Amino acid sequence: MEPKDTTYNEAFKGFTNTACPFYPCHKGVEREFNCLFCYCPLIAYECPGPYKVFTDKHGLKRKDCSDCTLPHNGYRQSWNFIQKWLERPVVWDGHEQTSPPVQRPREDETERG
Ligand code: SF4
Repeated sequence: MEPKDTTYNEAFKGFTNTACPFYPCHKGVEREFNCLFCYCPLIAYECPGPYKVFTDKHGLKRKDCSDCTLPHNGYRQSWNFIQKWLERPVVWDGHEQTSPPVQRPREDETERG
């Protein structure tokens, strides 16, 4: 089996589960609907998505990602989006999304001591 970084096979980058009772769970997805990131890997990290913040019954700040299509919009596009943002993850501190949205940290911003 080839490592994912060198293979030309893109089959691992996404799938669509049309049998899911929640499908399609987000409106506005124009490309193939990618279910691979159903639980978004960026939920605990800074991201550029249009999330809203709410407080759960334990008093914890949470993201409501209902309006976000970034992890779902196209197999290759959503795969690349998630990989890029996981290169230098920054833990989310519970703040509302900014305007303009949070930018991906540059390499020199995360390599400081
Ligand atoms: S707003 Fe979008 S990118 Fe951000 S955590 Fe939610 S689903 Fe993931």
